[in-house]
Amino acid sequence: MSQARVYFADARSEGANDSLVEKTKLLFDAAGLQDCIKKGDKVALRVHFGESGNTRYLRPALVRAVADKVKEVGGEPFIAETLTIHAGPWASRTTADDLLRTAAKNGFTVGTLGCPIVPSDGWFGTDDVRVSVKGHILSEAYVAKAFAMCDAMIVIGHVTFSAAVVTCALKKVGVGCLSKRGKYLVHFESNKYPHVSVRPEECSGKKCQWSSLCQAICPHDALRITDRGPVVDRDLCRICALCIWVCACCAKPLGLRALYHPREEPEFLVPKIADAASAVLSTFRREKVGFLGYMLDITRNCDCFPSSQVRVIDDLGILAGRDPVAVDAAAIDQIYGKMKEQRVYGATTDFPPKSFSHLLVQKAAELGLGRREYVLVRVQSHDRRAIPSTFSYVKRMYDEKPHIIEEVGL
Ligand code: SF4
Ligand code: SF4
Repeated sequence: MSQARVYFADARSEGANDSLVEKTKLLFDAAGLQDCIKKGDKVALRVHFGESGNTRYLRPALVRAVADKVKEVGGEPFIAETLTIHAGPWASRTTADDLLRTAAKNGFTVGTLGCPIVPSDGWFGTDDVRVSVKGHILSEAYVAKAFAMCDAMIVIGHVTFSAAVVTCALKKVGVGCLSKRGKYLVHFESNKYPHVSVRPEECSGKKCQWSSLCQAICPHDALRITDRGPVVDRDLCRICALCIWVCACCAKPLGLRALYHPREEPEFLVPKIADAASAVLSTFRREKVGFLGYMLDITRNCDCFPSSQVRVIDDLGILAGRDPVAVDAAAIDQIYGKMKEQRVYGATTDFPPKSFSHLLVQKAAELGLGRREYVLVRVQSHDRRAIPSTFSYVKRMYDEKPHIIEEVGL
């Protein structure tokens, strides 16, 4: 089987032409991401805004660079992000309102990005489409509607660790493009169909001090707390998971967490991420999706955590390509290679084993999402001879109105 091409630019910078913003534009061209977009296409830019309190998420200036490139080739970009299934005192992306406030707090606004921001699964994370998939475990997935309805997508991923795997292209698609019930199905349910797991024997019913909150938070009137515990109307329930997290976060912690929150092992979780990624990508024509992965600020936990840990390794650079499996394989090789070089891996047992990340790549390749074999193409920024926009602006002013240059003392 032929090898996919993954393009790579080093994180090191020696000048203005060499910044990560310029390298983003360079990689966009080198990887042919412009070929994903036709004039007038609505293009989702899949981005993680970071939980409130986290400060290691991807910088908005890098996202802006991609939005500008999309506009340059005639596309109409919008920033696409979905809601989290968790709700609780520290969760800041539970509803669309929360998400937009957190986005603004973290620097993602229409002003900074130059295009609209769309909470892609609606106000409560229940705006989705059901997509059939012949997966390893899943037979269906719930894709956030904005992704299913748009013309093209560029996945702009912060590459870092998550609970089970290195999160790069596949996890951004196989989790990040799902509605709440889609995420619930991938994360917490080993069976094929999502439903809220109710264990009345572990709930103290109306005696629980959180009973009115967990009932009232249900946006679909699907939950009743009785003297004998919770009763869910499955016809009304949309698996938005709000009640689950009231119970998990607000009541006495771990014992009650088990009430709705069955433990999920990576052996189940990882193939389901691949299954869901396959469902999401099936809503696009294959040539309409591209991937960028930023191996910067790599920490033990992902950007969903409400605080940031220190970097575990040096910044590595940016990956770009059209094949999500190859981009993920390259990210895993780069990250674990660097950890070995810097003797990080092995110093602690806290990191997810490399085998889980490889399992995701393998399961995605088996579903035909791409190729594990890749050629890494190093891209040098001096190839581009990029001119920083401020310089070109000054140069234009100089060409057209030289007197202005004098006025500002240049
Ligand atoms: S918060 Fe949990 S334990 Fe309390 S009433 Fe609701 S479901 Fe029962
Ligand atoms: S019962 Fe209501 S709050 Fe709980 S998951 Fe279903 S729709 Fe959401």
